[in-house]
Amino acid sequence: MRPGPSVVKAPIPARVTMLGTGTSHGVPMIGCHCATCRSTDVRDRRLRPSIYIEVFERVRILVDTATDLRQQALAHDIAQVDAVLFTHAHADHILGLDDLRSFNRLQGAAIPCYANDETWTHIRRQFSYIFDGPLQLGGGVPQITANEVQDAFFVRGVKIIPVPLWHGKLPILGFRFGNFAYLTDCNKIPEESLRLVEGVDILVLDALRDEPHETHFTIGEAVAMAQTIAAQQTYFTHMAHDLPHAKTNARLPEGVQLAYDGLVFDIEVEIA
Ligand SMILES: [Zn+2]
Ligand SMILES: [Zn+2]
Ligand SMILES: [Zn+2]
Repeated sequence: MRPGPSVVKAPIPARVTMLGTGTSHGVPMIGCHCATCRSTDVRDRRLRPSIYIEVFERVRILVDTATDLRQQALAHDIAQVDAVLFTHAHADHILGLDDLRSFNRLQGAAIPCYANDETWTHIRRQFSYIFDGPLQLGGGVPQITANEVQDAFFVRGVKIIPVPLWHGKLPILGFRFGNFAYLTDCNKIPEESLRLVEGVDILVLDALRDEPHETHFTIGEAVAMAQTIAAQQTYFTHMAHDLPHAKTNARLPEGVQLAYDGLVFDIEVEIA
């Protein structure tokens, strides 16, 4: 029997912007003069990893507050953040958290943030001034609410499925939004999580470089994983300077490409 319209509503359109597709150092790396770091191709300039999802008329969601959040918000004219999802608490994914103050000021409200238990433990430690209160108010502190997530949850009616991943020994979260999944910072995806991303049309997946790494997929491992998940289109993210954009894309199979900062694509999300 088909579920009635009151149970399942038709998916609605949304848009994803890749705000940053670089590894923790960013590309170019400070002081590096390699071909990628000196490249004039704008797709070889990678800020720290983050994405922005606009579910029109409903909600604007930021995934991670990367070190470069201020620069990313200015570059893409982002003036609204209704919710933040954290994948994990590594510096490149959280150090822009203080810049949420700007959105507090614009919106006049605290921003609900979502992460797993492990991530909140680290964020509370790293940003103790937010949780313990500052010595004096000064420029203010970010106003956020901390929500721990494990299972599917809804943000203003939009369904979000946390996807547990292994980032070396660290349990982190990817997220699925309708026909799209964002799986950064991982080198292993448990079987149960593969089931959670089954049938996605667009996948963003971690791919650091060609050389093995203890917490990230190599290009070879990421291509194999992309083939397992079998989205129509896979984009790689979290790239180091070892991977020049054009040259690397030329050797990737059909339907697999490197993402780049500013890449925009359309998705469909599920709503309650
Ligand atoms: Zn990272
Ligand atoms: Zn370099
Ligand atoms: Zn990480």
